[in-house]
Amino acid sequence: MRIFVSIFALLLFFGTNAQTHVFKPLPYAYDALEPYIDAKTMEIHYSKHHRGYYDKFMAAIKGNSTLESLSMPEIMARMSEFPVAVRNNGGGFWNHEFFWESMTPGGSTIPEGAFKSRINTQFGSMEKFLEEFKNAGLSVFGSGWVWLIQEKGALKIVTTPNQDNPLMNVPEGTVNPLLALDVWEHAYYLKHQNKRAAYIDDFFNVIDWIAVSRRFNEKL
Ligand code: MN
Repeated sequence: MRIFVSIFALLLFFGTNAQTHVFKPLPYAYDALEPYIDAKTMEIHYSKHHRGYYDKFMAAIKGNSTLESLSMPEIMARMSEFPVAVRNNGGGFWNHEFFWESMTPGGSTIPEGAFKSRINTQFGSMEKFLEEFKNAGLSVFGSGWVWLIQEKGALKIVTTPNQDNPLMNVPEGTVNPLLALDVWEHAYYLKHQNKRAAYIDDFFNVIDWIAVSRRFNEKL
């Protein structure tokens, strides 16, 4: 009997640990977002930058059973308790996965419904929302991110420096990220060089509004 209990415990141990932090495949081919985001940038961004954050994050949490078992949103909520390597690399790991899943080849049309209505009510129109989002992206000094989030029932555009994100150090479930844009130079320099505005305009053509609306509807 004891041996079976031990085997069960081992299976549970390895089973749960194996599934917690996974480096997911890119949801489309490197060249799928052409001509807006080029294949070479996507390849380096995913296979070198994103992979690098993931590998360093896994190294930073190795042997820490709390960090190895908590979900990424749980880690984000408690980030001030953890070393800076967990913040920078855990942020880089989670942010990029969320960013890839905010885009789709050719973009998608925003579905009719609660989210579209909210964009119009809060920002006036989709055009005005995009203008405000772009200005926020241009306002980031150095490296960082632009986000559309839902907080206390309202939509908000916020920016974060480095690999920080709006989930860090706020109680879990109080902020719902809907859309992210990476404005680090590594995200656009090969194609757009110093022209961040042109990169943001191109990004607008590949936003997966169906995914963004789904995130909103999940937390309505
Ligand atoms: Mn990046």
